[in-house]
Formats: sequence, structure tokens, C-alpha cells
Amino acid sequence: MQQQQLSLYNTLSRKKEVFEPLQPPFVGMYVCGPTVYSNVHLGNVRTFLTFDILYRYLQHLGYKVRYVRNITDVGHLENDSDEGEDKIAVKARLEQLEPMEIVQRYTNDFHEVLSQFNLLPPSIEPSATGHIIEQIKSIETLIEKGLAYESGGSVYFDVLKYNESHDYGKLSGRIIEDLQNETRELDGQAEKRNPLDFAVWKNASPEHIMRWPSPWGIGFPGWHIECTSMSTKYLGTQFDIHGGGMDLKFPHHECEIAQAVGVNGEEPVRYWMHANMLTVNGEKMSKSKGNSFLPGQLFTGDHPLLQQAYSPMTVRFFMLQAHYRSTLDFSNEALIAARKGYIKLINGLHVLDKLAYPAEAAVVPEQDAELRKLTTDCFAGLNDDLNTARTIASLFNLLKKVNSLYTGALSLANISLDTFNFVRDTYQALVLDILGLKEEKTTNQEEYVNALLIFYKEAKEAKNYARVDEIRTTFKKQGIVIKDMKTGIDWAYEE
Ligand code: AMP
Ligand code: ZN
Repeated sequence: MQQQQLSLYNTLSRKKEVFEPLQPPFVGMYVCGPTVYSNVHLGNVRTFLTFDILYRYLQHLGYKVRYVRNITDVGHLENDSDEGEDKIAVKARLEQLEPMEIVQRYTNDFHEVLSQFNLLPPSIEPSATGHIIEQIKSIETLIEKGLAYESGGSVYFDVLKYNESHDYGKLSGRIIEDLQNETRELDGQAEKRNPLDFAVWKNASPEHIMRWPSPWGIGFPGWHIECTSMSTKYLGTQFDIHGGGMDLKFPHHECEIAQAVGVNGEEPVRYWMHANMLTVNGEKMSKSKGNSFLPGQLFTGDHPLLQQAYSPMTVRFFMLQAHYRSTLDFSNEALIAARKGYIKLINGLHVLDKLAYPAEAAVVPEQDAELRKLTTDCFAGLNDDLNTARTIASLFNLLKKVNSLYTGALSLANISLDTFNFVRDTYQALVLDILGLKEEKTTNQEEYVNALLIFYKEAKEAKNYARVDEIRTTFKKQGIVIKDMKTGIDWAYEE
């Protein structure tokens, strides 16, 4: 039904491009998943939410999407430039647990949190440790092609060699000479031909707890190679979309391109997409800065930065009110406003459910066309590089008209049945399926039941048996029975 085409901003070309899959109706999408060594924070959620919207929208457009989002369970070192220890190994030692216990714990947390925010699971969720063989194979190919070399039991990607015939830095806009100046001073680079080179395999010292045999001795894979090997395995040597947070552009994604071009001899990705950061007082939310909070703290309000508790859908709406390429600053005021906006959209669903089309229509073509246009307009934002903020504004515009139909200020008879169905179906699809909002039941069942019992008691005392039966029947429909006892009236679930 949408007239416009979907355009996406491609980090590689630095412009918006009309989205055209390589092999329609199939779309291959790879998103870098979490490093599972700690609980996901709200900043991480923002990035995954961006790609959840894209996944949902592509499916709505009729594409058959294979969405691959990996789990990094080995190889991500404390410092992004090959230095320090493996983040998971450090945590495992600290907590005296098996590395796989750490991985499992935080993978579970990740899944739980994302489902609380109503994110859809990906089609495939491969883990780095499950693909050691594929990674070794990729590294062997790089060595064969002269693009990687072994040194001291580790293997490094030869950036300068690659750059002789390719453009290292083209994604992130980094200039190789600048990079060389920046890395010249780094310690611990002795094994490398050039400080710019990055590890694809690291030699494991005897005390290292995550280790595998390889043609170069006992060791473990570098961080970047997992994404190259797994995206190639599941999506092919060339696929449509690769996403992640802005902070992954360099070095991670730059290195991914170099490796993939090196191994497969072709550009791996058509559209590179990067989500911007969630900030707190203008600073990137991150665990190391101590300004992050966990979703659980948000739901209880238990954090010095939080004035109150916020529900998952309030937060989801808050994030969708910003375009994914803009930074989004956390604030209590914005979340309180988001709650109101979210409720407004949900109330719209109820209004549309309650509107009954009249027996006799008296269609006014201008009114009919206007409502149709307002509905179609809701897609303009999404089509313009996934601008959810604009789509929400369009939905509010549409809602004004829908509410007028509900209050009677506008007559539903003036709208054709076809248009009415279009409005209702589109609104539902946008709010529930594409923006992925769902209704949060705020009512406390127990309080309702107890309130209704007061009426029951009154009806009994007044010997109004018709009323008594009516209330009993209402309860029964909800699977609840009223218990009349000598000691008083109570209720229980029907057994
Ligand atoms: P990590 O587990 O650190 O590899 O991060 C998982 C994902 O979350 C990556 O795509 C990061 O770019 C993203 N991310 C980390 N911090 C933030 C933040 N403050 N705002 C948005 N995305 C973030
Ligand atoms: Zn990755």
C-alpha cells in the first residue's frame, strides 16, 4: 500500500540510497551482537532496537529476511586494539566460574531484556566459540593470499599490504597515515610488522582459559574475524545489510571489510548502517563510565538518575521518538512525556476497535481522500531512512481524525468502508507490528476483583438475585468463582 520506496543511509557511500536487495524477495541482514561478559545496559538496547524496527519493517514490506545477530563469547579483548585480556576470561576468573557459565548467564540476561522490550529474536544467533573451525579456515585463506602472517603463534592481518590494492579506512573515513601516527606509540606491538595490523588469531599463554588448537598453536580468534566468518557462512560472500552501533565503525567494521575482501575477493555488504549512541548528560552511556543503568533498575526506578520507574513500552517509545542516527539523551522529562505518547497510541487502537461502520454510507470524496492520505503519510518517515520519530508524528496526526470520528465531530458515514478498513489495518500494523509496541496492562486484577465483590455483597444484602447472578456470571467468564461462606465472602480461581 505504501507508495514511496524505502531509503536507507549507507555509511559506506555517506548518503541515503534506495534499498534494493541483491536477490529479492530475500534480504540478508547481519548485526553485531553483544559481548556477553556483563548485563546489557540501556545503550545496548537502543542499538538492537534500531535493527529490530528495520527487521520488522522489511518483513512488513514483504521481504523474506534472514536476520543474523551473533553472540561474541570469545576474542573481544579489554582494549579494542588487540591489547589486554579477553573480557569473558577476566570475568570468569573474577567470579571463579567457567567462561561458558559467564557466557550463558549474560546471554540469558540479554535474551530476557530484549524480550521485555518486545524485540523479535533473530533468525540465526551464532556464537564465536561455535565457529572456531570457520574462523581458522578464513585465516588460512588470508595467509595463502599474503594478507596475513604468523608471528609468535599469533596471526596478524597485514593492513599496509591490503591497502596497496584496497582502501583501508573507507568505511570510517580514517586516513591510513593518521592511523599510523596514532598507533606508533602503542606498547606491545613487537610481533606486528606494523602497529596498524590487527590480530586475527592470538596465541594463548598457558594460564589463558579459553583456548583452541590451530595450525599456529594453541590460541583463540581475534574479535573481528568471527563476524566475517559467520556472516559469510550464513549470508554468503555478499549480503544486503550490516548493522551495529556507531562505535563499531572503527576498528571493528573496517577490519571486517578488509578481512572479507581478503578472504572472498568481493565487497561483503551493500548497506552499512550505524545506530547512534544513547547518552547521559551528553556522554555515551557505557558501563566503564559508570553512567549506565540496567533495564531492571529502570523498571523499579532504583537508580540515582531515575526519578521514578518506567515501563518497557515507555522506554521503547522514548527511543523511537528519536531518529536512530541522532544521539538520544536520557532524561526523566523525556520519559515522562514518552509515557503519555505511548498511552495515546494505545488508546488509538481501542478507539479504532470500538468504531463500528454505519449501515448506510454517505461518502464525501474529499474527506475520504484526506483520511487515506493521512494514513499513507505515516510511511513517509519510515521510508526516509527509518525515521520513526516522523512516523510517530504522522500517527498522531491521523489519530486526531480518528478521534473526531469517535466523538462524532466527523461522521464515519462520510468515509468509505474500504478507507476505514485501510486506516484501521494500517494503524494496527504500524503500532503493533512495525513499531513493536504492545499494550501493557496496568490494572491490578486483585483490586478489581475485590471492588466487584463489594457490589456482590450489596446485591446479596438487598436480595437482588438477578444482580447477584449477573456478577457471578461475569466472574465465571474470567475463571473466578465467588465463595459464600459463613465467615464471609471470598473468591478463588475456578478449579
Ligand atoms: P558490546 O556488547 O559492547 O559489543 O555492545 C553491543 C552493542 O551495543 C554494539 O553494537 C554497541 O555499538 C552498542 N552500544 C554500546 N553502548 C551504546 C550506547 N551508549 N548507545 C547505543 N548503542 C550502544
Ligand atoms: Zn561484529
